[in-house]
Parts: sequence; structure tokens; C-alpha cells
Amino acid sequence: MRTHVMSLDFDSSLLEKYDTQGPRYTSYPTAPEFAGDFTVQDYVRHVEHSNDELIPKPLSLYLHIPFCRSLCYYCGCNKIVTQNEAKAERYLEYLFHEIEMQSKLFAADRLVTQIHFGGGTPNYLNTEQFRELLSVIARHFHLSYPEKLEISIEIDPRFSSGPQIVELANLGFNRISIGVQDYEENVQTAINRIQTREQVDEVITAARSAGIKSISVDLVAGLPFQTRHSFADTLKQVVESKVDRIAIYGFAYLPKRIKAQRMIAESSLPKRDTRIAIGKDTLEYLKDAGYVHIGMDHFALPTDSLAVALKEHNLQRNFQGYATHAECDQVGLGVSSISQVNDSYSQNSSTLTEYYAQLDAGELPIKRGISLTEDDLIRAQVIQYIMCQNTVPYHSIESAYGINFLSYFKNELQALKGFEKDGLIEYGNDEFSITPAGRFFLRNIAMVFDYYLNNKPPQTEDNVVRFSRTI
Ligand code: SF4
Repeated sequence: MRTHVMSLDFDSSLLEKYDTQGPRYTSYPTAPEFAGDFTVQDYVRHVEHSNDELIPKPLSLYLHIPFCRSLCYYCGCNKIVTQNEAKAERYLEYLFHEIEMQSKLFAADRLVTQIHFGGGTPNYLNTEQFRELLSVIARHFHLSYPEKLEISIEIDPRFSSGPQIVELANLGFNRISIGVQDYEENVQTAINRIQTREQVDEVITAARSAGIKSISVDLVAGLPFQTRHSFADTLKQVVESKVDRIAIYGFAYLPKRIKAQRMIAESSLPKRDTRIAIGKDTLEYLKDAGYVHIGMDHFALPTDSLAVALKEHNLQRNFQGYATHAECDQVGLGVSSISQVNDSYSQNSSTLTEYYAQLDAGELPIKRGISLTEDDLIRAQVIQYIMCQNTVPYHSIESAYGINFLSYFKNELQALKGFEKDGLIEYGNDEFSITPAGRFFLRNIAMVFDYYLNNKPPQTEDNVVRFSRTI
């Protein structure tokens, strides 16, 4: 069995060599490929096909709460910064309507096993609003038994409290992820997000005492004024809190596209050498602290379900990142949310004006999407193996899709030779595997199989589809 603990026994120059921009592969094809010619009728057709399956998949609901109380300058999310809580009231009325419309499409045997609230700031809503939202969901969808139902939420600790977390746990929430980003004061000032260790620990302590099963912390690397020393200090504080999962996202600085980021001077960002050193330090530190490297920038304690799923080869990747659930169809609810149903992805309108107008017209607020071709499905499966299983078994793809792997992917296998030479992949009789060092370069390896990325006509600097850095 392969070890899942990262070995740092590789040449640091590889970090520089593979430091490029690329997708995070929470879907394939990736969101930039979703197109406006995908219609509500297309979506309904995919739902009908999914209902007709012999054993229909369970459902995972994603609800987007776009409101935030203050603007973080690094943020590239779809959000609305407002103190006017009446806006959230109005939004919820529309969201309830969308929940009802969506629920009517799914057959009675489609059980909901997962509900996730993302944002924005989901805890912009108060407990009463969550109570009502959950009861609307329960009224229209068929929920799994409470012990099988995962309800998770992203928490902004600046606007939460111990009592709020206990109330959420009493409503059935059993997983939280807390946005910490960085504990260093001058970094927090530069990104306009001031929060203390005490605020975070209050949330963690309350979550533990209320029996919340999994506590995760999100950090961001590459923020202004971060140094090796300052990030190591943040990491140390997070590890002291003994959270189950730690995710470290690379900051994508795109001031041309994201207005808020113009508040961050490029000169304040850590240089490439520092970013790379932070990456190496982080891997070493978390390994020594007993965390398992799940893949890319995700780590978990060995007892956490993600680490168990990795060990048992059940790990999945979806729009929320790594997941343990066997495949679900995902229903996105709310402005800009993404659905993955049958062989399709679709995304709701990203402005409230459009979202409300479509619902007022009695339509689902779908704006764009894509129906996957056979080639998309094959490549999506290969990328899923790369991101989650460390191994791409040719025979599994061949028997599922009736292809000859070696000839179908002749060019890609040729392109992988450089990765083999660098010790990041190795070939077996009927598969190629990602080495422990290669787990840090999963996005780069997956990019080799991305047809769209590799076959698009060259774009100008202004219209190029930009992604975050892979390292
Ligand atoms: S980082 Fe989170 S809290 Fe800050 S503006 Fe973005 S969505 Fe809102």
C-alpha cells in the first residue's frame, strides 16, 4: 500500500518548474467551459434521466448565501456586501421558491444525504432564518435519517459566537469550516479582515462541546506581507487548536478582474521564492504534526473521514473540494450556485436582479451549463482518479468506456514523460501512479488530460481565462 504521508524528498526546483496557473478541477470540464446555450429544458432532461436510473443517486444540496458584512480585499467570491438585513429576507423568499421548484423535478426516491451552505457568509443569516430554511428543505425534499444526513456550513468567526454554533448544532448542523486565512495582524489589516485567535477558538470550543463531528479551518497562502515566519506562526496556532481538517488555498491575485484586489499593492505580495518556501514548510510542518496529505492543499487528521476515504480509495472530488460521499447528484440553489446532475453541469445567474427576474417569470434561474460528451466523461474520470486515487487504472477506463487507453491517450502519455523523469509519476503494468512527491503537483498532472485547456486557440493577455497558481 502506498504511504499517504508526503515525502519531501524531491528537488525544490520542481516547485518552480511547475508553478503555473491552472484549474482546481472541482469539475471537468471546468466552469469557464459552461455556455449560455444550455437551457432549463436541458437541465430538466438531465434530471429526468437521473430519476430513471436503476438505482438513482442520492442528492447533495448546495445553498449559496451571498451576503457579507464587510469586504475582504482578497476575495474573488460571488458576494454582496451589505448591512441591510432586509436584503437577506427578500433573498430567502426567492430561495424558498427555487427549492420548491427544484424539488418537484426529483422523484420521491431521491434522498438528500448532504446539505451544504456556502457563501458569501452563510452565518449572515440568524438561527431563526436557518430553522425556516431547513424546514422548507425538509418540506419539499426527502431527507435521509438524521444520523446519515450531513449538514455543513462555512463560518466567518468575526460574526459568529459560541451560542450561535450551539444553536446551529441543535438544528442538525454537524460539520463546520471556519475561514481563518491568516492570524498575523499586518496581513489581516492589508486584506481588511481583522479577527482574533479568541474569536476562532470560541467557535471551535463551542462546536466541540455541541458534538459537531468535523471542524475544518481554511487558510490562504500568498497574501500581502506574509513571510515564512508569519505563516508558520499561523499554522502553529491552527494546529494547536487540533482541528480535523486544514485547507490552504493559494491566493489568486487578479486585480484586473477583481476590483477589491486593487486595494492590495502588488509590491506587498510575497515573492515567488517565499511562496514556494511557505509551501514546503507547510508540508513538513503538517506532516510532523500528524496530518495526512489528502491531495493538493488539503490535510486531515488520520481519524478524519477524508483521510479514511483516501486510505480506502473512496475519496471524491466535487464543487466543495474533496468529499467522502459516494457520488451524489448536486443541486445548486441560490444565486450563482452550480448543479451537477446526470451528465451535466449548470450554473444559476450570478446577479440578484437576473436571479429574481427568472424566478418571477416562473423559470428556474439557470444561466449557463454544459452537457458532457463521451470524451468529457472519459477525461473527467481520469482526472478524478488523478485527484483522488493516486492511480489511473487503464482497464477501469477501458471497460467503462470501450476504449484502448494507450491509443486514446497517446499524446497525453507522451506529455507525461517529463513528470515520470521528475519522479512525480511512475508506470505499472496497467496503470500509472502518482508518487508521494507527485501529490503536490496533482493539478499539473491533471492539466495534461484537459482537452479544453490544451486545444483552445491562444488567447490575448486580456481575455485569457485565468486560474489560481498550481503551487
Ligand atoms: S472572503 Fe468571505 S467574508 Fe470576505 S468578502 Fe469574501 S465571501 Fe465575504
